[in-house]
Amino acid sequence: MPLQDVTSRVRPALAGFEPYDPAFSPCRINLSANENTHPLPPVVTEALRDAMATTPLNRYPDPLGNELRDTLATWHGVERASVMVGNGGDELLFNLLFAFGGPGRTLVVAPPCFEEYKNFAKMCETTIVEVWRDERDFSVRADAIVEAACDADLVMLTSPNNPTGDLLDPALVRRLLDETNALVMLDEAYVDFAPASASLVSWVADNPRLMVLRTLSKAFALAGLRCGYLIADPAIIDVLAAIRQIYSEDVLAQAVANRAVALRDELVPVIDGIVAERTRLSQALAGIPGVRQWPSSANFLLVRLPNAAEVRARLRDEHSILVRDFSYAKGLADCLRITVGTANENDELIAALRAIVEGE
Ligand code: PMP
Repeated sequence: MPLQDVTSRVRPALAGFEPYDPAFSPCRINLSANENTHPLPPVVTEALRDAMATTPLNRYPDPLGNELRDTLATWHGVERASVMVGNGGDELLFNLLFAFGGPGRTLVVAPPCFEEYKNFAKMCETTIVEVWRDERDFSVRADAIVEAACDADLVMLTSPNNPTGDLLDPALVRRLLDETNALVMLDEAYVDFAPASASLVSWVADNPRLMVLRTLSKAFALAGLRCGYLIADPAIIDVLAAIRQIYSEDVLAQAVANRAVALRDELVPVIDGIVAERTRLSQALAGIPGVRQWPSSANFLLVRLPNAAEVRARLRDEHSILVRDFSYAKGLADCLRITVGTANENDELIAALRAIVEGE
C-alpha cells in the first residue's frame, strides 16, 4: 500500500521542515558559504593526505574522539573533560538543544543570526525568544537580551556574528553570567579571523554556565570534513557525551582534524592573508556607489545595495560568481553576504559588481 498519509505520521514538531538545499549553482567562483578558498601550505595538505591514507577504515571510530579532544584541549589550555567534538558545529548545536531545550524550555537568540539555532530549537520543541538587533547598525540590544535571558534556559549568541560580522561585547556575556541563570552558548565559528583577544574560551574555566562553540569549517578550510567542538564545563560535556550519536565523528574526520589542529601554526599566514584581503575587499566595495557595508571581524562582508537579489542573479549568470542572498530575510532587505576569497577571486568580484552597478 502506498504511504500517502506520511505527513500526518510525522511527529508534529517536525512537520513542515524542508531539506536544507542552498541550491548552489556550479560557479567559477563560490563566495557564498564562508568557506576558506585560499590554498593551504604544502606541509599541511601533505599531512592531511597522509592522515587519510594511513587511517584504517575497517574499525569503528573512537566514539569520544579522545585523541582529537586531547589535541584541542592542549591548544586551548583546558582538560580533555572540557571538550566535546561533533560532526560539525551543527551537530553540537542540535545536541545542545536536544539536551537542554525541549517543551517548556526557552532559547534566546539575537537575530539576524545563524538560522540553525532557531531550526534546531523548533525541532526540539523549544520556545524561541528573538531579541532583534538594531535594524540600522545591527548592534545587539544588551538590556533586552539580559531581561529575556532572566526567564530563559539557554542563550545562543555569535561572535563574530553571521551574517553581520560584528564581535559581541564581552560585557554582555559577563552580564548574562552574573545577572541570569541561563546557559550561555557563545558561537565562535569565525573567531579565528578576529584579534586573538576576541575569544572567550579562557572564561570557561571560571564560568560553568558558559560554553564556547568552535569549528574547523572556516579558518582550517575543512568544511567538508565536518568537525566542530564545544569547550564547556565537564558536567555539560558529560551530558553531551551521553546523548550523542555514538560514531558521528568518523575515523577520517578525527584523524585529519587531529593533524590539522596540531599544525595550526602553519595556517596563521593563510588566516592573515584572508584578514588582509578582507580589508582590501572592504576598501574596494566602499568605492562602488550605493554599496553600504558593515565592519566585519569574520571572513565575509555583509553589504546592502539597491536590487540586491537581481545583482546576485547577474553575478551568478553573467560572471559565474556566487554570493549569498539574504534580501528575503527579515531585517536584511537588499543584503548580500560575500565571503572573502583569494586576491584573484576578490578582484573578479569587485570588477563584476562595479560593472553591474555602474552599468545600470
Ligand atoms: N555557527 C555559525 C555562526 C556558522 O555560520 C556555522 C556554519 N555556517 C556553524 C556554526 C556550523 O558550522 P559547521 O557545522 O560547518 O561546523
